[in-house]
Amino acid sequence: MSRLTLLAPFPGWCMPLAEVPDPVFQQGMAGDGVAIDPTEGLLRAPCDGELVPMKEARHAISVRANNGVEVLVHVGIDTVALAGQGFERLAEPGRAVRAGDPLVRFDLEFLARHAKSLASPVIVVSGDAVTRRAASGVLRAGDFLMEVERAVAVAGDGAGASRDAGEARHSRRLVVAFAHGLHARPAAQVAAALRPFQADVQLVFRGREAHARSPVALMTLGARAGDTVEVQASGAGALEALAALEQLFAPAIAASAPARHATPAPGRIDAVIASRGFAVGPCARWERPQVAVAERGAGEAGESAALARALDAVVIHLESLHGQSRGEAQALVAAHIELARDPQLRDRASGHMRRGDSAGHAWRQATRATAATLAALDDERMRERAADLLDLEHQVLGVLAGHAPGAAHEFAQGAIVVADELLPSQVLALQRTQVAGVCTARGGATTHMAILAAAAGLPALVAAGDAVLAIAEGVALVLDAEQGFLEVDPPPARRAALERSIDERRSEHAADLAAAHAPALTRDGVRISVLANLGSADEAAAALEHGAEGCGLLRTEFLYLDRREAPPEDEQRREYQRIADALGARPLTIRTMDIGGDKPIAFMPAEAEENPALGLRGVRASLEQPDLLRAQLAAILRVAPAAACRVLVPMVTDASDLRFVKRMLDEERARLGLAHRPLLGAMVETPAAALLADALAAECDFLSLGTNDLAQYTLAIDRAHPRLAARLDALHPAVLRLIARVAEVAQAHGKGVSVCGTLGSDVAALPVLVGLGIHEVSAVASTIPRLKRAARQLDAAECRELARRALEQSSAKAVRELLAAASAPHPAPVTGGSS
Ligand code: PEP
Ligand code: MG
Repeated sequence: MSRLTLLAPFPGWCMPLAEVPDPVFQQGMAGDGVAIDPTEGLLRAPCDGELVPMKEARHAISVRANNGVEVLVHVGIDTVALAGQGFERLAEPGRAVRAGDPLVRFDLEFLARHAKSLASPVIVVSGDAVTRRAASGVLRAGDFLMEVERAVAVAGDGAGASRDAGEARHSRRLVVAFAHGLHARPAAQVAAALRPFQADVQLVFRGREAHARSPVALMTLGARAGDTVEVQASGAGALEALAALEQLFAPAIAASAPARHATPAPGRIDAVIASRGFAVGPCARWERPQVAVAERGAGEAGESAALARALDAVVIHLESLHGQSRGEAQALVAAHIELARDPQLRDRASGHMRRGDSAGHAWRQATRATAATLAALDDERMRERAADLLDLEHQVLGVLAGHAPGAAHEFAQGAIVVADELLPSQVLALQRTQVAGVCTARGGATTHMAILAAAAGLPALVAAGDAVLAIAEGVALVLDAEQGFLEVDPPPARRAALERSIDERRSEHAADLAAAHAPALTRDGVRISVLANLGSADEAAAALEHGAEGCGLLRTEFLYLDRREAPPEDEQRREYQRIADALGARPLTIRTMDIGGDKPIAFMPAEAEENPALGLRGVRASLEQPDLLRAQLAAILRVAPAAACRVLVPMVTDASDLRFVKRMLDEERARLGLAHRPLLGAMVETPAAALLADALAAECDFLSLGTNDLAQYTLAIDRAHPRLAARLDALHPAVLRLIARVAEVAQAHGKGVSVCGTLGSDVAALPVLVGLGIHEVSAVASTIPRLKRAARQLDAAECRELARRALEQSSAKAVRELLAAASAPHPAPVTGGSS
């Protein structure tokens, strides 16, 4: 990895690119970065490096840093049209520069009158470099602007991958139809149009060659409107890449969206399951509507009144939505209401309107500046609020543009919505339409969007990658959010079979629900207990409706995420008692607060950690805050019936963690004069705990496998990493071997063992867990009926053999294939036609 720090090239207000009034920069097509509204007309080098020659361009400079990263500073928007007027070059292209060297002087007054906007993007245009941290708000020249990271340091002109001399090369001669030639925006569109293809593509102009994926390299060609360039392509998809560029260069299309949206992608696209289920239907593309927002308003009074009306309309809509929703959805809507009412946010917007901004622009400035500040905080909850703010911005701008609040895009009944990413409010809106499913290119299985889709029973896939964005509107899709793939344009026979299979699944689900209240015994009579994971009292009743036999994991930190002060003992007791009451005398496993890592808590601000997942979380945080743990243990001890309560300790790494909790539990029992000691369990969610399971089993009453963290730590994959989500599979044989060891040790010690991580909700994984000797799982409530049906179809002896073979596999994929082969014909496989 090679990191580079960029400094502000001029003083001014720093904002996210999303605020730049130009779709190419706004959508990051030209590159990742920020923009500055300059308050001084002198552009200085943002880093050490070489000034890249850019023909004819005075309004933009590019510096190639010593590690090969190329940084573009583009002064103002649409300034190419000024043909250099108002700009004076202070340094010769090709020359070495030091950070802070003056490069261009520009006439701020002149630009303010003639440019579309003064917002000046500072972006990284090397495709393999990403922005790690970025500043926001007021900056002086030379202040920290952003940190950029690139996987490998590459020198040279961005020519990219080397070409195989023997590979077939195809070429086309294309006329540049862009009004100002191949300047920043068209260059970025070229790069974006090529993104779906792997081909190596070069543009040749007057004997000079430039890598077509590098906007800076393209700009350095200096090709103007009417010039002819030669495009050469080789490698996989070369012809398709050329066709995409032909379309882009064609005058009629040059101004439209990049060609990547026009190319259907047949076959199967793997994705991450966010909400289980199936759907068959036509593709309905959903691009987040770009609401056109004029910068300047028509007078403060009118603009203020318009914003107030829009905010009122949004709040009224949200309040009615709040009354109709439950659980996560309700909490989310409540957060949006609070933000829409926030006086500081409204004041900020008023300030902008006083300076002449339109209502929409003022609201956007206010929300984005606040969101940027929140997003920069090292606090996951605050980052979520930042995402909520952007969501709210979108809702308010929609109303200002004349749409009804919460209006859902019109989708055909039964369509499968394909989008880059969805905002939570968009998922809420989708619930009121008749769409059959959702698939997004980005996102993760634990995002708000995923949680809301699951709560609404809307089958959803996420992290499907850019390939889904190439699917054309109306193409037939099969969304399999049971196995995690999207099938594009399947043959009619297969489609019919899939539709039949979905109908069968629906009836099966109804039958499963009816049978969910009976115990689950395998065919050879082994009882498999299925409990529920809970995060609030409200969920307990729903879990029982789905046949839960108790709660195997209450994530108590979820109860207090938003609190500013630690919850007092009494309040905790009341909350736990509510859940215990809802469960009757069924087991209630209360996990002590798993604070830290991906679950920071407002009342316990953590110090900044380089690797929070490896830092002060779970029981380690409790060791640092013993009073909080003491209050929680005392609260648990006072819950009735005492025999139903179990205490579970998260992030244990050795027996001393358990001894610490046990000692405190005993002290509290003595203080309260209670004879009964609740069962004490250890979460096995670190490789250390799995490897020391014997020592833990000797110190406690039961072990509970937290396979989410166990997989994260064993596979060294951050569980929140969006691009690695598909690889984070707890069925990886390395994780399975740890589970096998824990199950064996627990049995040898006569202690209970269960799985409470997401693997416990995975029907496909159940045979292998049962085979490894796990007879209790704690699952997401909605999966319990299916898990019970699956358990009833198993034979424990056969499962043991299957588990033995699973442990010998070399990858999670191989394990899943083995399990899929073994489970046929139950559940009913998706067959028919070719696949
Ligand atoms: C786990 O890690 O598997 C687990 C159940 O704990 P959490 O997901 O709350 O970290
Ligand atoms: Mg965990």
